Order: sequence, then C-alpha cells, then structure tokens
Amino acid sequence: MRPEILFPIFSPVTKLTGVGPRIAKLIEKLAGEHVSDLLWHLPSGLIDRRYAPKIAEARIGAIATMTVTVDQHLPPKTRRLPYKILCSDDTGSLTLVFFHARADYLLKILPEGEERVISGAIESYGEGIQMPHPDHVVEVKDRASIEAVEPVYPLTQGLSLKVLSKAVKGALALVPELTEWLDGPYLAKQKWPSWNAALTQVHSPEDETDLEPETLPRQRLAYDELLANQLALALVRAHMKKQPGRKIEGNGELNQRVTSALPFELTDSQKESVSEISEDMSSASRMHRLLQGDVGSGKTVVALLSMLQAVESGAQAALLAPTEILARQHLATIEPLAEAAGVKVALLTGREKGKTREPILAGFASGDIGLAIGTHALFQEGVEFNDLALAVIDEQHRFGVHQRLALTSKGKAVDVLVMTATPIPRTLTLTAYGDMEVSRLTEKPAGRLPIDTRSVAIDRLDEVVQAVSRALNQGTKIYWVCPLVEESEKIDLAAAEDRYAHLNAVFGERVGLVHGKMKGKEKDAVMAAFSEGSVDILVATTVIEVGVDVPAATIMVIEHAERFGLAQLHQLRGRIGRGSDKSTCILMFAGNLTQTARKRLEILRDTEDGFVIAEEDLRLRGAGELLGTRQSGLPEFRLADLASHADLIATARDDAKLILEMDPELESQRGQQLRVLLYLFERDAAVQFLRSG
Ligand code: ADP
Ligand code: MG
Repeated sequence: MRPEILFPIFSPVTKLTGVGPRIAKLIEKLAGEHVSDLLWHLPSGLIDRRYAPKIAEARIGAIATMTVTVDQHLPPKTRRLPYKILCSDDTGSLTLVFFHARADYLLKILPEGEERVISGAIESYGEGIQMPHPDHVVEVKDRASIEAVEPVYPLTQGLSLKVLSKAVKGALALVPELTEWLDGPYLAKQKWPSWNAALTQVHSPEDETDLEPETLPRQRLAYDELLANQLALALVRAHMKKQPGRKIEGNGELNQRVTSALPFELTDSQKESVSEISEDMSSASRMHRLLQGDVGSGKTVVALLSMLQAVESGAQAALLAPTEILARQHLATIEPLAEAAGVKVALLTGREKGKTREPILAGFASGDIGLAIGTHALFQEGVEFNDLALAVIDEQHRFGVHQRLALTSKGKAVDVLVMTATPIPRTLTLTAYGDMEVSRLTEKPAGRLPIDTRSVAIDRLDEVVQAVSRALNQGTKIYWVCPLVEESEKIDLAAAEDRYAHLNAVFGERVGLVHGKMKGKEKDAVMAAFSEGSVDILVATTVIEVGVDVPAATIMVIEHAERFGLAQLHQLRGRIGRGSDKSTCILMFAGNLTQTARKRLEILRDTEDGFVIAEEDLRLRGAGELLGTRQSGLPEFRLADLASHADLIATARDDAKLILEMDPELESQRGQQLRVLLYLFERDAAVQFLRSG
C-alpha cells in the first residue's frame, strides 16, 4: 500500500485548479497522469524578466519589464491591421501591438491614463520601439506577481506555457514535507539540499546554469531516482536468491560430443563463459546470469553447451528468442549439433499449430524432447515440460520481466541465462540488471577480417549499384537495408518496396525482399533463398537487425544511415563479416549531415568494438535514445540523465547494497523513509518482497 503521505501527489492532475479533462489529456501525454509526474517535468529553459529599463534605454530583442503610462488606444481600421496602444514613461514612448485583439478586453486591462507594468519582448519599429503581445500586464501594486525569472517547460501542441506553469505550481503546492532518507554524512558531503528544497529549486532556476544536470538539486533528485531503482533491483534479487535452487550437474558427455562436432575451436571467452555458467548451474542456488556478447561473438554455442548440461542431468532446457526468424535461425544452428549428440530438439512458435503442435507438446511433457527452441509461444498456457531446468533468453531486451517469470514458472527452480547482443555500457547494465552476474564474450571468433566501412552520399547511388553488380559477379551476397522512418511502418515498407523494384529492374530475380509485415512462411522462404539459393541481394527493413546469420553475405548497404542510432547500425553491420572473406559496409546518407550525425558515422568507420560504440553513443545522446528505451527494457528515468549522472549509478548500487545488508526488510527509521522513496518512484512491486510490505 502506498503511504498516505504520498496520496496528494499521486492524485490525478485534474485535481489541480485550471486542469480540466482536456488539459489533463495534454499533460498526460507530456508528463503523465499524476500530480507527481508534473513534479518530474523539469524546466528546459527560462525567461529572465529582471531587466527593467526605461523606454529610452530598452535594448532591442531583450525581454523587458517596464512601468508605463497608457496614453491612447488606436483601434485598427480593418480586422487585418493590428490594434495599437501608445504608452510612455518620462524617457520616451513605446507602442503595444495586438493582432486579433478584443477591444473591450484591452480597454479593461490597459485603461487610458493609468500606469501598468508590462513585460515582453522589445522590438524596433521605425524610429521607436514596440512590444507585441506582452506576456504580462499588471497593475503597479501587483508588480511582484510577475516572476523575476520564469521557468520554461517542454510543451506539447495545444498546451501553453502559462497553463502548464500554473499546473506545475499547483503540483508543487501539494508536495508533502518528506523525512530524509539519504544518509546524513553522505548528504552533507555532496552538499545536496533536502528532497523538498531540491524540488523547489529545480523548478525555480535563476539562470541558465541552473538548468544543467550537474547542479546540486538536480543531482540530488537524480540520485533519489537511481537509488529507488537500485533498491528495487536489489530487493528483487534478494527475493530470487532466497528461492531454492537445485544442482544441475552433467557428466560432460554431450558437451564433449558437440564440441568435437564443431567445425571450429571455441574462443577463450566462450570457454570461460561456458564454465562460469556450468558452475552456477551445478551450485545449489538459483542462477541468474547475463551473457553479454557483441553480434557475431558466438553466444549460440555457449547457450547450447549450457543447455546440454541440463540434458545431461536428465532435465530439459528452453531457448527463447524474440522473433520467429531468430528462433528458426537458432534451430538451424543447434539442430545438427544436437543430432550429433543424440539429443532431440523441437521448435515451437505461433506457427506450429494443430497436428504439428501436438507431438511437440507431447515431447516437451514427456521429456522426450530435451531442447526446446521458440518464441513467446513457449510460455503460453498448455505448454508443459517434464522437467525444465534452464531457460535461456536471447535478446532479452525485447522481453519484459513478466515474460521471463512466465517461462521460469514452467519448471521448478529454473536457472536463467539472459543473452544480450546489445553492448550495453556498464553503467546501463547496472540500471537494468543491478548486480546480476555477467559473463562477457570479449573476442570475435578467430579468422574474422575487419569490416571495411565507408560512408557515401546518396547521390552516388549509381556508383554503389555498379559496385554491387561487380561484387555479384564474384559470387557475393548482399544485404540492402532500407531507411528507417520511425513514425510509420507503412512508409518503411514503401521505401523498401521502391528500392526492391529499382534493384529488381537491374538485377532481376536475384533480388529478394523481406519486411516485418510479411507472413512467417514468406519470410522464411526469402531468408532460405538468400542463405542457400537463388537470391543474392536481400532488400530488407530492419527485421534483419538481430541474429540472422548468412556467412556468405559480405556486403551491406544501409540507406539513410543518418537516421539510425549508432548501436543499431552496429547491430546491422554485425550481420556481415561472419565468414572468412573480406566484408564491406556502405553507409549511405542523404543531405547535409549534422555535426553529430557525421561524428556517428566516423565512430562506426573507426571501430567495430560494440562496447566502445555504445559508450560513444551514450556520450553523443541520452541513454533513452541509445537503445530506444521503450523496447530496450531499460528503465526510463525521469530525473536521472544516464550520461551526466553515470557516476551516481555505481554509488546508488553500493548504497542500496549496504542499506539492505544492515536492514534487509527496511524496518528501521531510515528503512521506513526508503519505503516512501520506493513508492515515490513507483517501484511498488519491489516493496511486495518485504516481509511487512
Ligand atoms: P551471436 O553472438 O551474434 O549470437 P552466433 O552465435 O550467431 O553469434 O555466432 C555467429 C557465427 O560465428 C556463427 O556462424 C557461429 O557458428 C560462428 N562461431 C561461433 N563461435 C565460433 C568460434 N569460436 N570460431 C569460429 N566461428 C564461430
Ligand atoms: Mg545470436
């Protein structure tokens, strides 16, 4: 239950004066539905109204607050002309200008012969100056009601700054006085204000530097959010650790058979990862390990060898992939190897229906099938395992925590191995996984040549097509990735279809097209034709982004590379350079590149190290954009800026650890306040793991 003290700020925004259903919708879109969401909506700019010149000395272009006498109203002769009001002080005169004005209203707020304080932008007009549509007009006695410095908030269409500012003020007025949850000495050392003071300060910037994430109040709030995140992760983890595990021990026999059937030698980090996982599995506690390895680093084999340990022990293992293409790809890799070891494998996706599905389900239920590979269809109702002991979750960032839990509930004390190809920087790993154990594949399999990456302007398309034509004659396969238009899959598709038609006119049947809207069977057919058969150029939207493995493909053309994120480009490029032939990646861009876009393409040209690329990406833009937070499964932070507050993450992790060591159930005085913090940042789920939560 949420503590009562937080009720006022968790009420809907409609509770605020001036916020009706229409405004509430806009606020919801912009910030969120609760009053608290407005508190986290921080100013992105400010308007300084402290400049209070006399008319004669007012600077053109400045925002000025001035006391003037209203001399004369000059209504326009036609509606199309502006309404003017002449004003003056003892140094000169100024004209107020209004378009589409209502005369009665203007006469009321600016009566002739009286003094008023006005605030707005100064413009030049002929010899004199004017102020179009002043932001504020008040009586002299109310001068103080014009804020010296006004915060400016990010807005959305239809919501004015005036209305939003008023709502934020209303929200701030509802903020309860909360007792400190941070450690006193730490707080003092950081020179941070209290939570209440910090909140007030971030919403009343005095100058531009107050808007920086490094300011003390912004740091403080960011830290609170990060601490809530780390505490929540630590609580979930403590909960999982308490759950009984089981020893999954193998005799190494299947492992041996598969290893000798491999056409290659495992890399050192593959060997190391396999043994780390093996040790976890054979220990009595529950495994929760992350296998992090760049694209092409060979995670699948590591997964297979780990899964075989479960089979050796007489149990089963499942491999969960985010898409059907990937699940099939895994099957293609694993099946021949498993066969060599005499282990049965089956695929289960949404497409295995009726007659095909029955024997698969029966095999899982009887234990006859040792290895299950599939999509989310694996954890749907009706799927039973005889004894599921290990769940491997590939490309985890597409799955939520719930889905992970759903799969582990198909067995008892299921060990979990999460695989990710997204080279998440260490700091981000912490925010997403907390202290989860990590195995890293740090080297590429031997014999890989570096990928030659170039950027080329789109107006050289013909040259690229000619180069592709030459490569085709030498037996090369080519990926042609079409632009990403974020707003609409439809437009993505249209672009891909256009390019397909264009290339088809040149190269005929050798061109194939694959996109997200295709049916599974059609996709498979095209992919199969590309990997084994007649299709040599595969035009694709980003569906090929993860996992697909066609070693003969050594050229990739990416159109509108400037529209992709760095990490995404890196993932895409990882599709080539898998065989022993030299590979080339051509990044085509359109128009004039921005500084950042140019820098991105440079980084990509300079390195193939996914971790370096991810760190650079994080520097160049926010963490949210880095992976597309929504799909990434990374938590979205409202106050913490993962690029500028990175060092606070590790501190929050250590802090959370220490807190729970001393007070595992958050029962102390400070523990109670920390519970409030968890609720404040809506980590309610984590509180449930506390005894008296
Ligand atoms: P990812 O980590 O991206 O999932 P995969 O597991 O798909 O990578 O492996 C990419 C390719 O590298 C596959 O063709 C796989 O057979 C091959 N591979 C994996 N490990 C090695 C190795 N140690 N030496 C050579 N090739 C390897
Ligand atoms: Mg993979």
